[in-house]
Amino acid sequence: MDVITTVQEMRRWRAGWPLGASVGLVPTMGYLHEGHLSLVRRACAENEGVVVSIFVNPIQFGAHEDLERYPRDLPRDLRLLEAQGVHAVFVPTAAEMYPPKFITYVEPSGPLASEAEGASRPGHFRGVATVVLKLLNLVQPQRAYFGQKDAQQVAVIKALVADLNLPVELVVMPTLREPDGLAMSSRNSYLSPQGRRAATVLYRALLAGKTAYEQYQSEDPAAIQRAMSEVVASEPLARLDYADVRDPGTFEPLERLRPPALLAIAAFVERARLIDNFLLRADGTWETGIIAS
Ligand code: AMP
Repeated sequence: MDVITTVQEMRRWRAGWPLGASVGLVPTMGYLHEGHLSLVRRACAENEGVVVSIFVNPIQFGAHEDLERYPRDLPRDLRLLEAQGVHAVFVPTAAEMYPPKFITYVEPSGPLASEAEGASRPGHFRGVATVVLKLLNLVQPQRAYFGQKDAQQVAVIKALVADLNLPVELVVMPTLREPDGLAMSSRNSYLSPQGRRAATVLYRALLAGKTAYEQYQSEDPAAIQRAMSEVVASEPLARLDYADVRDPGTFEPLERLRPPALLAIAAFVERARLIDNFLLRADGTWETGIIAS
């Protein structure tokens, strides 16, 4: 497994593959868990070469967010990736990705970039779109792998690929959950044992939202939002940011309860800001993630 730290080296590595060889890219911020590894396994199964990037992208963090304390353990990440049979890990520094003369950003616009996560984290999707375009340009993968857990990120990247005519296939993998339903996340490591127990409130709220949907198909989304909010309000260690019913493609709020729909939730538990979602597909089936055994 090659560990690559510079843009030049990454380009050289990619140029070493014969024309037509398939390369898959899995972008991450590291501190890997089974959710990340589910993407890596799929990438290894579908491509001749697999690159995993590990980069805590400073420009997608707000001034008062957790950039400095974001968890990192590169030696462990490299061991995990080596065991999966990954061919290269791209671990650039921030200065390598954003040298002093850097001035060009990708700015997604409209509700998709400004609502939900975009409203709580101004500039977040500009940072995400910019780094993902850079990674796609550098690695030139046939396929890139993302998790449904970050549903709005998926929608923003789909728009990026369509709008800028990027020659890449996006593969979206279901959310992997802990046995008690909590979506796996590097940020779960911020939680105390008590906070960790409370953090299942996001999953419980989504289940309540799904039940409300099944009960009140003809009512407006407010009933579902209420059902989700009430569950979060019952957990003293949690503070709700939003609990919404949105169009999974545009992230506009839904006025009528019709599939496709996304139940999306964000809440603070202790010092961690956690997000999660359930997707009601156009065919009326649910994508609620996979509980690890
Ligand atoms: P991150 O390191 O948090 O930026 O995540 C890297 C990629 O892994 C993103 O595409 C995430 O959506 C995906 N991911 C994170 N958590 C999970 C999870 N629990 N299940 C599936 N994919 C995930």
